[in-house]
Amino acid sequence: MTKPSSFSHFLKGQDWSAHSSSLQQIGPQQIEFALKRQGQGGIDDLRALLSPLAGEKYLEDMAKLSHTLTRKRFGQAIRLFAPMYLSNECNNVCDYCGFSMHNKIARKTLTDLEILREAGILKKRGFDHVLLVTGESNQQVGMNYLSHAIDLLRPHFANLSIEVQPLSLDNYSSLIEHGIHAVMVYQETYDQESYSRHHLKGKKTNFEWRLDTADRLGQAVVNKIGLGCLFGLTEDWRVDAFYAGMHLDYLERRYWQTSYSMSFPRIRPYEGDNIVAVDLKDRDLVQLLCAFRIFNHELEITLSTRESQQLRENLLPLGVTTMSAGSKTNPGGYAEESQSLEQFSISDERSPREVSAMLKSKGYDPVWKDWDSSYDKPRMTNFDSPSLEQTNSTQVAASF
Ligand code: SF4
Repeated sequence: MTKPSSFSHFLKGQDWSAHSSSLQQIGPQQIEFALKRQGQGGIDDLRALLSPLAGEKYLEDMAKLSHTLTRKRFGQAIRLFAPMYLSNECNNVCDYCGFSMHNKIARKTLTDLEILREAGILKKRGFDHVLLVTGESNQQVGMNYLSHAIDLLRPHFANLSIEVQPLSLDNYSSLIEHGIHAVMVYQETYDQESYSRHHLKGKKTNFEWRLDTADRLGQAVVNKIGLGCLFGLTEDWRVDAFYAGMHLDYLERRYWQTSYSMSFPRIRPYEGDNIVAVDLKDRDLVQLLCAFRIFNHELEITLSTRESQQLRENLLPLGVTTMSAGSKTNPGGYAEESQSLEQFSISDERSPREVSAMLKSKGYDPVWKDWDSSYDKPRMTNFDSPSLEQTNSTQVAASF
C-alpha cells in the first residue's frame, strides 16, 4: 500500500458510516482487552474505549486507569496558561462563532501598546505561557502582524503558542524562527458534510486545506501541535473523536519530533443567533478524556474555562494536564471590563489566583513556567526587544 501523502489523502480511504457501525458493535471483550493492555493496542483500543458500551458499563474502570496513567507520567503537575486575543476580525462565516463575518459586532485589532498592556496584566497574574488567538483575516492579522506581535511578546514570556488561521509551510517555518512554541489547529469536525454545513463562507470552507495544516506543521518541525474537534457540530461525536484519534496516530508516526495536545471543547453561547448544538453530555466528556489518556499516555490534555468550575474540578484527576484560568475571549479583554467583543462566553470565571489555590488545596502543583524560551528558536539576533521604557507609556509600565 502506498504511504498517504497527507492526512486528507489518508482520510479518503476511510468510511464514516462503517466506523460508526463498528463503534456500535464493540463488545465487552474488546473493551476489557483494551483496559488490560492499558490502551497499547493502538487505534483498535481507542475504538473500543469510545464505544457506547464502554461509556455505559466501563466508565469507572476507565477513570481509574486514566487517573493512574496520568499521575505516573505527569505527577501532580497542572500547567496553567492564558489566551490573549489579539483580534476579532474574521473573513469567514462559521455559524457557531461570535467573530463570524456576518455578525454585527465592533471589530478590534490590538495595537502594540494594547498588546503590551495585555501582556503586562498577564505577567502580573503570574502567567508565562500565553496562547495568542486571532480570527482569520489576512488583511488585518496576516504574517506581518503575527510575526511583529510575536517579536513584541517573545522577550516577556517563556512560552508563546498561537491559534490563528491555517498557514503555509514557509509561514510556519518563519513563525518558528520568531519563537513560537506550539500551534493549535482544531479541525472542528472531521465529518466533511457537517463541516460544510457549519462553514459557510471564506477560506475556512476549504476542508482539506485545514485538515492538512498539521502535516505542514509537522514538516516545519514545530514543537507542539494541538488537535481537537468542536463537539456539538456533528451528530455522532464518537466517530468524530475516533477520527481525531486517527489523526493523532497518523501524525505521531510521521512527525515523531513533535509533541501533541488534545482538547475537547463544546460549543458555548456567543454573540449572534446561536445554533442548536448536538448535546455532548458531561458523562460523554469524561469518556472522551479517559479514552484518549488510555490510548496515548504522553498526550497533553487541555481543559479550558469553557467548562464550569465544578466540572473542571471533577475532571482534574482523570487525565487533564493543562488548564487556562481567568480567561478573556475578547481582544484587549484583560485591560477592558467590557465583554462585548468576545468569541464565546466562558463558564469558569475564577481568577488565576483562585484556580491556583484550588489546585494546591487538592494536592496538585500549578505550573506557571515549565519551558524556557531559549529552547525555541527566537530570531533574537536582529531583533531589539522593546523594553517597557522604550514604549514610553506609563499605562503599559503600570500593567507589568
Ligand atoms: S471560528 Fe474562527 S474562522 Fe470561524 S468565524 Fe470564528 S474566528 Fe472566524
